Amino acid sequence: MYPYSQANEVLLPKLKEGETVKLLDMKLHEKKTKPPARYSQSALIKAMADLGLGTKSTRHEIIQKLYARGYIKGNKAIIPNRIAFAVIDSLEKHDGLILKPEMTANLEKEMDEIALGKRSKKGVVEDSRKLLLQVLDQLLENRVSIGQELRKAIFEDRKQFACTAEHCDGSLVVRRSKSGKRFLGCTNYPKCTVTFPLPQKGKVEPLAEKCPVCGKPMIKVTGRRYSYKMCIDPNCKSKDEWKNKTKEKNNGEQNNNE
Ligand SMILES: [Zn+2]
Ligand SMILES: [Zn+2]
Repeated sequence: MYPYSQANEVLLPKLKEGETVKLLDMKLHEKKTKPPARYSQSALIKAMADLGLGTKSTRHEIIQKLYARGYIKGNKAIIPNRIAFAVIDSLEKHDGLILKPEMTANLEKEMDEIALGKRSKKGVVEDSRKLLLQVLDQLLENRVSIGQELRKAIFEDRKQFACTAEHCDGSLVVRRSKSGKRFLGCTNYPKCTVTFPLPQKGKVEPLAEKCPVCGKPMIKVTGRRYSYKMCIDPNCKSKDEWKNKTKEKNNGEQNNNE
């Protein structure tokens, strides 16, 4: 039954091989396949449940850990950082077993079976110990190259802009001073001492566009209720207007006090 729309079945007319037919219309379409949508947090929790990873009470926590350790960013659409790809790539290269959802799902199942009294704790612990030792041996053997790969990816994630100093091949990354204040500093420090101050509040992200006034890199600053773009140079002419506004505001406040 098709209650809302009429079901039309279009049957092709009978055709014979070699028969000439009249061309009524011709259209050329160019389309591209879309990549699958990124996971949201809830979609990821569902995918974990389907694969038997984690439990109802731990799945959310596992995802929070991925955020806390910098493996992923974004909220509605989760975006993996370089470090996430590097971990998977290097584990795949050295021991793919640990990446298989079946391995974790199996351990999870065995733990349930202990709870149900179907299996002994001793047997399960021995089994998983054997399995994990095997994986660990592989990883320890390759620890140097794995470390190098991961370090490179962490650096890539932190990499923001090329240093603005002439003849410097470093990058400007977010660093913290001893007092905890953040600023942009060069990765070639102490050889290069280029720094730029950063606003201390809000999330700072590098932008691909360059400052239209001075050509220096631009950043986007996002807080709870605001978001603005700015040139990293505090002395850039693009900021004169801001400075005037703050001055006016301060003057205004003084006048009010009088
Ligand atoms: Zn530099
Ligand atoms: Zn500028």
